[in-house]
Amino acid sequence: MNITHAYAAQDAKSKLAPFEYQPRELRDHDVQIEIMYCGVCHSDLHQARNEWKNTIFPVVPGHEIVGRVTALGSHAHKYKVGDLVGVGCLVDSCRTCDSCKQDLEQYCENGFTGTYNGKDRTTGEITYGGYSTQVVVNEDFVLRVPENLDPAGAAPLLCAGITTYSPLSHWKVGPGKKVGIVGLGGLGHMGVKIAHAMGAYVVLFTTSPSKIEDGKRLGADEVVISKDPDQMAQHTNSFDFILNTVAAQHDLNPFITLLRLNGTMTLVGVPEHDHPSPHVANLIYKRRSVAGSLIGGIKETQDMLDFCGKHNITSDIEMIKMDEINEAYERMLKSDVKYRFVIDIDSLRN
Ligand code: NAP
Ligand code: ZN
Ligand code: ZN
Repeated sequence: MNITHAYAAQDAKSKLAPFEYQPRELRDHDVQIEIMYCGVCHSDLHQARNEWKNTIFPVVPGHEIVGRVTALGSHAHKYKVGDLVGVGCLVDSCRTCDSCKQDLEQYCENGFTGTYNGKDRTTGEITYGGYSTQVVVNEDFVLRVPENLDPAGAAPLLCAGITTYSPLSHWKVGPGKKVGIVGLGGLGHMGVKIAHAMGAYVVLFTTSPSKIEDGKRLGADEVVISKDPDQMAQHTNSFDFILNTVAAQHDLNPFITLLRLNGTMTLVGVPEHDHPSPHVANLIYKRRSVAGSLIGGIKETQDMLDFCGKHNITSDIEMIKMDEINEAYERMLKSDVKYRFVIDIDSLRN
């Protein structure tokens, strides 16, 4: 098989740079995918810089992959050569535990295999992600991308889309529900679009006054500057659900105060340093919950893609070439991305 051209970080302090590797030979149920586009998730940055203290170097990040099928293993029948497909954060799981049997592979009790920085369940080799010209994945972890969607704008659905869709569905967001989305980054802007499409009343919380107009254009009914206590106070005790996508440590109390009786705030951001514990009484006196949620299972990811196909939802993207990735990371740290960087993987082929 052809050598794979990729970009990798060699250690936590180095910039990402060109890297090559030999992909695995196709197994019976494998699909080989020529990657067209790969989204840039804040998790890629956390991992490349070892902020979660578990990175195995060299690391090839990227788990928002869209491409076309180029070859199939001898028993792979779910896809045909030429199909438009996606790969998200998972490429395998144990398939036998209670979570896997319930289509919740992201919560596999034996640990899912990550698209990158994971260990192949057969060989123990480290997996490499989508900042690459091609990838080989078991067909059960490959998604079908609706052909009506722009493939570059669809790439971020594979992580940012499912990570917001899954909790919004689980906590039954829909008509009649008042829903907050905290942070207008990659995840947050998908959260605004999806919650709006689900029929909820959507309020965006942002720290960036420059994003107010965009927030409304993307589907927010109201936008609140979260650093302004007066604006925040107008929403006290009113939210059924808040989805917090912020990638940095911050005070959770101002948001918890906005939840109504029995309301829940679900955290999806995984900052390098934990948030300080919120005030306990603030939870107790209104039976409020603070929860967490991890991406989504394969079946739910397909449901999300089909939902986005039906509602014509894609990410608002800034397309970059592969060699612009280090600059993109710096801009992401300044909350300066509208609203997801997507790498044109053709720029790796030249
Ligand atoms: P992103 O594009 O960088 O967006 C994060 C947003 O958070 C920023 O745009 C900014 O929005 C807001 N923000 C940043 N710093 C802030 C601060 N100090 N205080 C308040 N708000 C701040 O990141 P992303 O790709 O959406 O990822 C968000 C987080 O989710 C990351 O930690 C990532 O690792 C995690 N993640 C988790 C899962 C999961 O399964 N749970 C999946 C994917 C990603 P405003 O300018 O609007 O304030
Ligand atoms: Zn991600
Ligand atoms: Zn399992």
